Amino acid sequence: MVRVGCHVSIAGSVDRAIERAIERGCDTFQIFSSNPRGWKSRELKTAEIAAFRTNVQESGLDPAVAHMPYLPNLATPKPEVYQRSVETLARELSRCQLLGIPYLVIHPGSHLGEGRDGGIARFISGTDRALAEAGGTTMLLLENTAGTAHSIGGTFGDIAAILTGSNHPDRLGVCFDTCHAFAAGYDIATDAGLAATLEALEASIGYDRVRLVHCNDAKGACGSRLDRHEHIGLGAIGEEGFRRILHTPLFRALPLICETPADAHRSDADNIRGVRDLAQE
Ligand SMILES: [Zn+2]
Ligand SMILES: [Zn+2]
Repeated sequence: MVRVGCHVSIAGSVDRAIERAIERGCDTFQIFSSNPRGWKSRELKTAEIAAFRTNVQESGLDPAVAHMPYLPNLATPKPEVYQRSVETLARELSRCQLLGIPYLVIHPGSHLGEGRDGGIARFISGTDRALAEAGGTTMLLLENTAGTAHSIGGTFGDIAAILTGSNHPDRLGVCFDTCHAFAAGYDIATDAGLAATLEALEASIGYDRVRLVHCNDAKGACGSRLDRHEHIGLGAIGEEGFRRILHTPLFRALPLICETPADAHRSDADNIRGVRDLAQE
C-alpha cells in the first residue's frame, strides 16, 4: 500500500491540521507552519505544540511535513532579502523541531538574473548557516522546480550541486514534485520518458536522497515551465502516466503528498483515493 496525503490548513491552531488530514483520508500530511505569503510568524503556544505532537502520534499519520513560506529566497543577490530569508529558514527549522516534524520542504529560489552559480552558492551558504543555527534533526528537502526563468532547481543537476556543496549533507534530502519535473521537461508521462527521468535522477542525485513526492498532475505541457497543478489523472501527465509512476518501486515506497487545486472538480479526498486506486490497479 502507498502512503498518501495532502496539504492541510492550520487555521485556528496548528494541532487542528491533524483532524483535517484524517477527514480527507490522509496517511501523511503537509502544512505551512507560518503564513505562506508573509514574513512574520506568530509564536506557537506550548499547549498547541503538545496537542500537535499528541494528535500526530495518536492518528498514526506519518510523516508530518512542513513547507517553507513563499517569500524567502536563499538564492537572491539582494542582501536584505537574503538575510531575512536565512533567518526565516532557521525559524522554520526550529518550529519543525518543536512540533516534531521530520521534513521541511524548500524551493531552491531565484537568482533574479544574476546567474545560476552565484545563486546556488548563496543557497548553500544560507542553508548551512540556518541548519547550524537551528540545530535539531529536521531534514531540509530540496524541491525540484518547474524551471521558470532565473529559478534554481529545474534540473537534477542544480539539486545535485546543492547536495554536493553543503556542509550538512546529512540534513538534506529531496522532494520530487511530479508536476514541476514534467513542466521542467522531464517527460514522466510516457514509458520511455519516465525510465529516462529515473535514470537521470539516480545518476545525478541518487534514489536514497529522495524522501518525499509532491504528487501533482500538470495543467501545462512537458517543458512548458508552467507551475500549474492539476487533479491527479486530469492533467497532461494523465491517468495512464500516474498509474505508471505509481508502479515504480521508488515512488511507491515514498510518502506522496497531493497539492492539487481547491475547486469544484474534485476534493482532496477524491485525489487521495485516486492515487490509491491507480497504485493498486
Ligand atoms: Zn513546493
Ligand atoms: Zn508547484
